[in-house]
Amino acid sequence: MQRLHARYPFLEAARETVATEAVDLATVVEREEAVVDRATQRVITALEDGDTGEPHRDHRVELLSYPVARVLVSMVGENVLVRKYARAEAATAYDRFIEDIEDTTELKSVETAGLDLEALFAEFDLREAIHGPVDGEYRIDVGTYLPLAADLWDDEWRLVNQPLERGEVPVDEGELLALLREGIRERIEDGLPFDVPETIAADLEAEAAEIREVLADLDLTREIDTVVPDLFPPCMKALLDQIQKGEHLPHHSRFAITAFLASIGMTTDEIVDLYRVNSSFGEEMTRYQTDHIRGDTSPTEYSPPSCATMQSYGDCVNKDDLCERIPHPMAYYEERIDDAEDEELEDWREGEADEAESAGD
Ligand code: SF4
Repeated sequence: MQRLHARYPFLEAARETVATEAVDLATVVEREEAVVDRATQRVITALEDGDTGEPHRDHRVELLSYPVARVLVSMVGENVLVRKYARAEAATAYDRFIEDIEDTTELKSVETAGLDLEALFAEFDLREAIHGPVDGEYRIDVGTYLPLAADLWDDEWRLVNQPLERGEVPVDEGELLALLREGIRERIEDGLPFDVPETIAADLEAEAAEIREVLADLDLTREIDTVVPDLFPPCMKALLDQIQKGEHLPHHSRFAITAFLASIGMTTDEIVDLYRVNSSFGEEMTRYQTDHIRGDTSPTEYSPPSCATMQSYGDCVNKDDLCERIPHPMAYYEERIDDAEDEELEDWREGEADEAESAGD
């Protein structure tokens, strides 16, 4: 059993094992160097390689390194670390349950017995929502499918691209396992970061500092002031689109998009340029409003409105899955920027500069 819990420390039963062994984390971090080392390695490997690295040969050390790793992630407290860490834990669990599922179908022994699909369904309360398999195909209730697929950005996962029948989405085993991986990721991310008691934090300062250093070297905490319109929240994309088409926007809508652009670091000149595509473009008015919002010609620097305000003005449109989890358009953009691959991150301003240069050649 300890092997199973060491392999899948996010399982409810593993959490209970840690609790019933009356393990006091403060004592563990103070006295058990092997656990702290493995926990640190868990987090650093998550950042560098996207998995949790070689497990410790001692199952107890391996199991305890998981709650300690969560403490370390909480101490560093960066959203991007929480996401990368949860993703790496989930990726490792995914590789392991694929191995286990193959093992159960081939040579099963007491020693190798791991997780099977039924156990995973039960763990995530999914038994009622997943039907089949029939001819290798499962069907999953749409209400269960949607939150699990929420962070899978590829088009194939979007509901519009799924042949929905009687409120059920058909998935093959590979897709089902990918959805389970998402369920695990969500469970791991849940509750992170949390407040770490002083007594525990004091013993882990050096390890947290080491992780902060790795994070800084990897330069993952991307600056929000990158302008990538493709990653804008749907509401801001829609407003920008209307301005560029020359449509007249009510004051609150114009304010929302201008404040958003100023908040992601665009200067008045750049905002004016971005709006200029519009034929009936009122440069003077845009300059006046932009300077005002930026606080250049007024005592206040305005922030873009929250999702609740956008909704009340009817400016919240085309909501997508990420919208369900964030309270503010800036939070939406920050998360998309953090999660983007490097090649997706060409700043709009660099593209403009290249075009201007080649036009001048
Ligand atoms: S939920 Fe928020 S971020 Fe999403 S479209 Fe609405 S206002 Fe924009």
